[in-house]
Amino acid sequence: MADQSPAADDTVDHPVISVIIPANNEEPGIAAALGVINGVLASCEVSNEIIVIDDGSTDGTYAVLNRLCQDQENLRAIKLSRNFGKESAMLAGLRAATGDAVITIDADLQHPPELIPEMIERWKDGAMVVHAVKRQRAANTAMERVRASIYNNLLKFLGGIDLRNSSDYKLIDRVVVNALVNELHEYQRFFRGLVTWVGYRQEKLFFDVAERQAGETKWSTRSLIGLAITGIVSFTSMPLRIVTIFGILTLLLAFGVAVEALWSWFIGTAVTGFMTIIFVLLLLGSFIMISLGIMGEYIAKIYEEVKNRPDYLVDRSAGFNENEHQ
Ligand code: UDP
Ligand code: MG
Repeated sequence: MADQSPAADDTVDHPVISVIIPANNEEPGIAAALGVINGVLASCEVSNEIIVIDDGSTDGTYAVLNRLCQDQENLRAIKLSRNFGKESAMLAGLRAATGDAVITIDADLQHPPELIPEMIERWKDGAMVVHAVKRQRAANTAMERVRASIYNNLLKFLGGIDLRNSSDYKLIDRVVVNALVNELHEYQRFFRGLVTWVGYRQEKLFFDVAERQAGETKWSTRSLIGLAITGIVSFTSMPLRIVTIFGILTLLLAFGVAVEALWSWFIGTAVTGFMTIIFVLLLLGSFIMISLGIMGEYIAKIYEEVKNRPDYLVDRSAGFNENEHQ
Protein backbone atom coordinates (compact mmCIF):
# COMPACT_ATOMS: atom_id res chain seq x y z
CA MET A 1 0.00 0.00 0.00
CA ALA A 2 1.51 3.33 -1.03
CA ASP A 3 2.32 5.83 1.65
CA GLN A 4 -0.52 8.32 1.81
CA SER A 5 1.38 11.31 3.08
CA PRO A 6 3.59 13.28 0.72
CA ALA A 7 5.67 14.48 3.68
CA ALA A 8 6.85 10.91 4.30
CA ASP A 9 7.72 10.35 0.65
CA ASP A 10 11.34 10.28 -0.64
CA THR A 11 10.13 12.40 -3.52
CA VAL A 12 9.57 15.32 -1.17
CA ASP A 13 13.02 16.78 -1.82
CA HIS A 14 12.79 16.44 -5.57
CA PRO A 15 9.11 16.22 -6.30
CA VAL A 16 7.80 16.31 -9.84
CA ILE A 17 4.88 18.61 -10.45
CA SER A 18 2.69 18.07 -13.52
CA VAL A 19 0.82 21.14 -14.75
CA ILE A 20 -2.14 20.29 -16.95
CA ILE A 21 -3.73 22.90 -19.16
CA PRO A 22 -6.91 22.29 -21.19
CA ALA A 23 -6.88 24.48 -24.29
CA ASN A 24 -9.60 25.06 -26.84
CA ASN A 25 -8.78 27.57 -29.57
CA GLU A 26 -6.14 29.31 -27.50
CA GLU A 27 -3.70 30.02 -30.34
CA PRO A 28 -3.40 33.76 -29.63
CA GLY A 29 -2.34 33.39 -26.02
CA ILE A 30 -1.03 29.91 -25.38
CA ALA A 31 2.66 30.58 -26.02
CA ALA A 32 2.68 33.61 -23.73
CA ALA A 33 0.77 31.73 -21.02
CA LEU A 34 3.23 28.84 -21.18
CA GLY A 35 6.08 31.34 -20.88
CA VAL A 36 4.62 32.80 -17.68
CA ILE A 37 3.85 29.39 -16.18
CA ASN A 38 7.35 28.15 -17.04
CA GLY A 39 8.88 31.19 -15.38
CA VAL A 40 6.95 30.56 -12.17
CA LEU A 41 7.80 26.85 -12.16
CA ALA A 42 11.49 27.61 -12.66
CA SER A 43 11.43 29.61 -9.43
CA CYS A 44 10.06 26.63 -7.46
CA GLU A 45 12.39 23.91 -6.28
CA VAL A 46 10.65 21.16 -8.17
CA SER A 47 11.02 19.24 -11.39
CA ASN A 48 8.07 19.76 -13.65
CA GLU A 49 6.25 18.71 -16.76
CA ILE A 50 3.59 20.72 -18.53
CA ILE A 51 0.88 18.87 -20.41
CA VAL A 52 -1.40 20.88 -22.67
CA ILE A 53 -4.52 19.12 -23.90
CA ASP A 54 -5.75 20.58 -27.13
CA ASP A 55 -9.48 20.01 -26.82
CA GLY A 56 -10.33 19.90 -30.52
CA SER A 57 -9.17 23.40 -31.40
CA THR A 58 -10.00 24.57 -34.90
CA ASP A 59 -7.25 27.18 -34.92
CA GLY A 60 -3.48 26.63 -34.85
CA THR A 61 -3.22 25.78 -31.14
CA TYR A 62 -1.73 22.35 -31.74
CA ALA A 63 0.73 23.60 -34.35
CA VAL A 64 2.01 26.14 -31.82
CA LEU A 65 2.28 23.44 -29.15
CA ASN A 66 4.00 21.00 -31.45
CA ARG A 67 6.57 23.63 -32.34
CA LEU A 68 7.17 24.56 -28.70
CA CYS A 69 7.54 20.88 -27.78
CA GLN A 70 10.59 20.61 -30.00
CA ASP A 71 12.74 22.88 -27.91
CA GLN A 72 11.01 22.78 -24.56
CA GLU A 73 11.95 19.55 -22.89
CA ASN A 74 9.31 19.66 -20.13
CA LEU A 75 6.38 20.35 -22.47
CA ARG A 76 3.97 17.74 -23.81
CA ALA A 77 0.88 18.16 -25.94
CA ILE A 78 -2.09 15.90 -26.53
CA LYS A 79 -4.59 16.61 -29.27
CA LEU A 80 -8.06 15.16 -28.76
CA SER A 81 -9.88 14.02 -31.88
CA ARG A 82 -12.56 16.70 -31.43
CA ASN A 83 -13.92 19.06 -28.81
CA PHE A 84 -14.92 16.84 -25.88
CA GLY A 85 -15.26 19.64 -23.33
CA LYS A 86 -13.00 20.90 -20.58
CA GLU A 87 -13.89 18.08 -18.16
CA SER A 88 -12.75 15.39 -20.59
CA ALA A 89 -9.65 17.36 -21.56
CA MET A 90 -8.67 17.57 -17.89
CA LEU A 91 -9.23 13.84 -17.48
CA ALA A 92 -6.90 13.19 -20.43
CA GLY A 93 -4.33 15.40 -18.71
CA LEU A 94 -4.73 13.64 -15.36
CA ARG A 95 -4.22 10.29 -17.08
CA ALA A 96 -1.06 11.45 -18.86
CA ALA A 97 0.45 13.18 -15.81
CA THR A 98 3.32 11.40 -14.10
CA GLY A 99 4.05 13.91 -11.32
CA ASP A 100 3.79 13.52 -7.54
CA ALA A 101 1.22 16.26 -7.66
CA VAL A 102 -0.83 17.75 -10.48
CA ILE A 103 -1.85 21.37 -10.93
CA THR A 104 -4.80 22.12 -13.20
CA ILE A 105 -4.83 25.63 -14.64
CA ASP A 106 -6.60 27.49 -17.48
CA ALA A 107 -4.76 28.48 -20.63
CA ASP A 108 -5.83 32.12 -20.57
CA LEU A 109 -3.92 33.29 -17.45
CA GLN A 110 -7.18 33.94 -15.61
CA HIS A 111 -5.78 31.64 -12.96
CA PRO A 112 -2.72 33.52 -11.68
CA PRO A 113 0.34 31.25 -11.97
CA GLU A 114 1.95 33.24 -9.12
CA LEU A 115 -0.15 31.10 -6.79
CA ILE A 116 1.75 27.95 -7.77
CA PRO A 117 4.66 28.29 -5.28
CA GLU A 118 2.21 28.72 -2.39
CA MET A 119 0.18 25.73 -3.57
CA ILE A 120 3.33 23.62 -3.63
CA GLU A 121 4.25 24.81 -0.12
CA ARG A 122 0.83 23.81 1.22
CA TRP A 123 1.21 20.43 -0.47
CA LYS A 124 4.65 19.91 1.04
CA ASP A 125 3.07 20.72 4.41
CA GLY A 126 0.67 17.84 3.93
CA ALA A 127 -2.36 19.16 2.04
CA MET A 128 -3.66 16.58 -0.44
CA VAL A 129 -5.78 19.02 -2.43
CA VAL A 130 -5.21 22.78 -2.59
CA HIS A 131 -8.18 24.62 -4.09
CA ALA A 132 -7.71 28.07 -5.53
CA VAL A 133 -10.93 29.88 -4.68
CA LYS A 134 -12.08 32.96 -6.57
CA ARG A 135 -12.56 36.18 -4.69
CA GLN A 136 -15.66 37.92 -6.03
CA ARG A 137 -14.54 39.68 -9.16
CA ALA A 138 -15.73 43.20 -9.72
CA ALA A 139 -15.37 42.84 -13.49
CA ASN A 140 -18.13 40.23 -13.63
CA THR A 141 -21.41 41.50 -14.87
CA ALA A 142 -24.28 41.42 -12.39
CA MET A 143 -25.96 38.85 -14.63
CA GLU A 144 -22.95 36.50 -14.45
CA ARG A 145 -22.80 36.85 -10.68
CA VAL A 146 -26.50 36.11 -10.31
CA ARG A 147 -26.15 33.10 -12.60
CA ALA A 148 -23.17 31.68 -10.69
CA SER A 149 -24.81 32.33 -7.35
CA ILE A 150 -28.12 30.68 -8.28
CA TYR A 151 -26.25 27.63 -9.57
CA ASN A 152 -23.90 27.26 -6.61
CA ASN A 153 -26.58 27.79 -4.00
CA LEU A 154 -28.86 25.35 -5.77
CA LEU A 155 -26.13 22.73 -5.82
CA LYS A 156 -25.38 23.34 -2.15
CA PHE A 157 -29.06 23.11 -1.22
CA LEU A 158 -29.71 20.02 -3.32
CA GLY A 159 -26.51 18.09 -2.96
CA GLY A 160 -24.81 19.52 0.09
CA ILE A 161 -21.60 20.34 -1.83
CA ASP A 162 -20.28 23.84 -1.51
CA LEU A 163 -18.76 25.05 -4.75
CA ARG A 164 -19.22 28.75 -4.16
CA ASN A 165 -16.47 30.63 -5.97
CA SER A 166 -14.64 27.38 -6.65
CA SER A 167 -12.59 27.07 -9.81
CA ASP A 168 -10.80 24.35 -11.71
CA TYR A 169 -7.48 25.78 -10.53
CA LYS A 170 -6.20 23.18 -8.07
CA LEU A 171 -3.23 21.23 -6.88
CA ILE A 172 -3.99 17.55 -6.43
CA ASP A 173 -1.74 14.99 -4.78
CA ARG A 174 -0.87 11.78 -6.66
CA VAL A 175 -3.00 9.71 -4.27
CA VAL A 176 -6.06 11.79 -5.11
CA VAL A 177 -5.23 11.81 -8.83
CA ASN A 178 -5.09 8.01 -8.76
CA ALA A 179 -8.42 7.94 -6.96
CA LEU A 180 -9.99 10.24 -9.56
CA VAL A 181 -8.55 8.38 -12.53
CA ASN A 182 -8.74 4.76 -11.35
CA GLU A 183 -11.43 4.50 -8.71
CA LEU A 184 -14.13 6.66 -10.21
CA HIS A 185 -15.62 5.20 -13.32
CA GLU A 186 -18.35 7.62 -14.15
CA TYR A 187 -18.73 9.13 -17.57
CA GLN A 188 -18.89 12.94 -17.85
CA ARG A 189 -17.10 13.58 -14.60
CA PHE A 190 -17.86 16.79 -12.81
CA PHE A 191 -14.30 17.56 -11.84
CA ARG A 192 -14.88 20.31 -9.26
CA GLY A 193 -17.42 18.27 -7.40
CA LEU A 194 -15.46 15.02 -7.48
CA VAL A 195 -12.24 16.57 -6.21
CA THR A 196 -14.17 17.75 -3.15
CA TRP A 197 -16.06 14.47 -2.86
CA VAL A 198 -12.91 12.29 -2.52
CA GLY A 199 -12.06 13.79 0.85
CA TYR A 200 -8.50 13.76 2.30
CA ARG A 201 -6.93 16.93 3.66
CA GLN A 202 -8.13 19.84 1.53
CA GLU A 203 -7.07 23.47 1.79
CA LYS A 204 -8.07 26.71 0.13
CA LEU A 205 -6.14 29.63 -1.28
CA PHE A 206 -7.83 32.80 -2.51
CA PHE A 207 -7.16 34.65 -5.74
CA ASP A 208 -8.56 37.49 -7.82
CA VAL A 209 -9.65 36.44 -11.27
CA ALA A 210 -7.71 38.32 -13.92
CA GLU A 211 -9.08 39.41 -17.27
CA ARG A 212 -8.72 36.84 -20.03
CA GLN A 213 -5.36 37.49 -21.76
CA ALA A 214 -6.24 36.57 -25.33
CA GLY A 215 -9.08 35.04 -27.29
CA GLU A 216 -12.57 34.82 -25.87
CA THR A 217 -14.45 32.71 -23.40
CA LYS A 218 -15.22 29.21 -24.65
CA TRP A 219 -18.43 28.79 -22.71
CA SER A 220 -21.77 29.42 -24.28
CA THR A 221 -24.84 29.71 -22.06
CA ARG A 222 -25.84 26.34 -23.49
CA SER A 223 -22.64 24.58 -22.41
CA LEU A 224 -22.90 26.22 -18.98
CA ILE A 225 -26.44 24.94 -18.55
CA GLY A 226 -25.14 21.51 -19.60
CA LEU A 227 -22.41 21.65 -17.00
CA ALA A 228 -24.87 22.79 -14.35
CA ILE A 229 -27.23 19.89 -15.08
CA THR A 230 -24.35 17.37 -15.09
CA GLY A 231 -23.18 18.81 -11.78
CA ILE A 232 -26.57 18.53 -10.15
CA VAL A 233 -27.55 15.19 -11.64
CA SER A 234 -24.27 13.48 -10.87
CA PHE A 235 -24.18 14.67 -7.29
CA THR A 236 -27.66 14.44 -5.95
CA SER A 237 -30.96 12.68 -6.32
CA MET A 238 -32.71 15.43 -4.35
CA PRO A 239 -34.63 16.66 -7.44
CA LEU A 240 -36.26 13.23 -7.68
CA ARG A 241 -37.29 13.48 -4.04
CA ILE A 242 -38.75 16.92 -4.69
CA VAL A 243 -40.91 15.36 -7.38
CA THR A 244 -42.30 12.93 -4.80
CA ILE A 245 -42.92 15.75 -2.32
CA PHE A 246 -44.75 17.75 -5.02
CA GLY A 247 -46.81 14.68 -5.74
CA ILE A 248 -47.84 14.30 -2.10
CA LEU A 249 -48.68 18.01 -1.82
CA THR A 250 -50.82 17.82 -4.96
CA LEU A 251 -52.62 14.81 -3.57
CA LEU A 252 -53.40 16.70 -0.37
CA LEU A 253 -54.62 19.64 -2.41
CA ALA A 254 -56.88 17.39 -4.46
CA PHE A 255 -58.21 15.84 -1.29
CA GLY A 256 -58.98 19.33 0.11
CA VAL A 257 -60.78 20.31 -3.09
CA ALA A 258 -62.79 17.08 -2.98
CA VAL A 259 -63.88 17.71 0.60
CA GLU A 260 -64.82 21.28 -0.26
CA ALA A 261 -66.83 20.17 -3.30
CA LEU A 262 -68.66 17.54 -1.30
CA TRP A 263 -69.46 20.08 1.35
CA SER A 264 -70.80 22.59 -1.23
CA TRP A 265 -72.97 19.87 -2.71
CA PHE A 266 -74.18 18.93 0.76
CA ILE A 267 -75.19 22.46 1.72
CA GLY A 268 -76.62 23.03 -1.75
CA THR A 269 -74.40 25.84 -3.15
CA ALA A 270 -73.91 25.59 -6.91
CA VAL A 271 -70.39 24.65 -8.03
CA THR A 272 -69.38 26.96 -10.88
CA GLY A 273 -65.63 26.57 -10.85
CA PHE A 274 -64.86 26.26 -14.54
CA MET A 275 -61.80 28.54 -14.44
CA THR A 276 -60.58 26.86 -11.30
CA ILE A 277 -60.71 23.50 -13.01
CA ILE A 278 -58.68 24.77 -15.93
CA PHE A 279 -56.17 26.31 -13.53
CA VAL A 280 -55.82 23.10 -11.56
CA LEU A 281 -55.45 21.11 -14.77
CA LEU A 282 -52.66 23.35 -16.02
CA LEU A 283 -50.95 23.26 -12.65
CA LEU A 284 -51.07 19.49 -12.47
CA GLY A 285 -49.98 19.19 -16.09
CA SER A 286 -46.95 21.32 -15.47
CA PHE A 287 -46.04 19.39 -12.32
CA ILE A 288 -46.20 16.17 -14.28
CA MET A 289 -44.12 17.50 -17.14
CA ILE A 290 -41.46 18.94 -14.86
CA SER A 291 -41.32 15.67 -12.94
CA LEU A 292 -40.91 13.68 -16.12
CA GLY A 293 -38.19 16.07 -17.24
CA ILE A 294 -36.27 15.61 -14.00
CA MET A 295 -36.52 11.85 -14.25
CA GLY A 296 -35.50 12.08 -17.88
CA GLU A 297 -32.26 13.80 -16.85
CA TYR A 298 -31.38 10.94 -14.56
CA ILE A 299 -32.34 8.33 -17.12
CA ALA A 300 -30.20 10.12 -19.70
CA LYS A 301 -27.35 10.00 -17.23
CA ILE A 302 -27.85 6.26 -16.64
CA TYR A 303 -27.96 5.75 -20.40
CA GLU A 304 -24.66 7.60 -20.82
CA GLU A 305 -23.12 5.43 -18.11
CA VAL A 306 -24.27 2.07 -19.49
CA LYS A 307 -23.03 2.87 -22.98
CA ASN A 308 -19.61 3.00 -21.33
CA ARG A 309 -18.08 5.11 -24.05
CA PRO A 310 -14.63 6.62 -23.57
CA ASP A 311 -14.63 10.21 -22.32
CA TYR A 312 -12.43 11.31 -25.21
CA LEU A 313 -10.28 10.02 -28.07
CA VAL A 314 -6.72 11.11 -28.71
CA ASP A 315 -5.72 12.17 -32.20
CA ARG A 316 -1.99 12.74 -31.76
CA SER A 317 0.54 13.87 -29.19
CA ALA A 318 3.95 15.50 -28.96
CA GLY A 319 6.71 15.80 -26.40
CA PHE A 320 6.28 12.39 -24.81
CA ASN A 321 9.28 10.04 -24.97
CA GLU A 322 10.08 8.56 -28.40
CA ASN A 323 7.33 10.74 -29.83
CA GLU A 324 7.97 12.21 -33.24
CA HIS A 325 7.01 15.78 -33.96
CA GLN A 326 4.95 15.74 -37.08
N1 UDP B 1 -11.66 24.79 -22.54
C1 UDP B 1 -11.50 23.51 -23.09
N2 UDP B 1 -12.56 22.96 -23.75
C2 UDP B 1 -13.75 23.59 -23.90
C3 UDP B 1 -13.91 24.86 -23.30
C4 UDP B 1 -12.85 25.44 -22.63
O1 UDP B 1 -10.44 22.91 -22.97
O2 UDP B 1 -14.65 23.02 -24.54
C5 UDP B 1 -10.52 25.40 -21.81
C6 UDP B 1 -10.12 26.79 -22.32
O3 UDP B 1 -9.20 26.71 -23.39
C7 UDP B 1 -9.50 27.40 -21.07
C8 UDP B 1 -10.32 26.77 -19.95
O4 UDP B 1 -10.91 25.60 -20.49
O5 UDP B 1 -8.15 27.01 -20.91
C9 UDP B 1 -11.37 27.72 -19.42
O6 UDP B 1 -12.15 28.18 -20.50
P1 UDP B 1 -12.60 29.71 -20.61
O7 UDP B 1 -11.47 30.60 -20.25
O8 UDP B 1 -13.22 29.88 -21.96
O9 UDP B 1 -13.71 29.74 -19.49
P2 UDP B 1 -14.00 30.90 -18.42
O10 UDP B 1 -12.67 31.40 -17.93
O11 UDP B 1 -14.75 31.93 -19.17
O12 UDP B 1 -14.77 30.18 -17.37
MG1 MG C 1 -11.04 31.87 -18.85
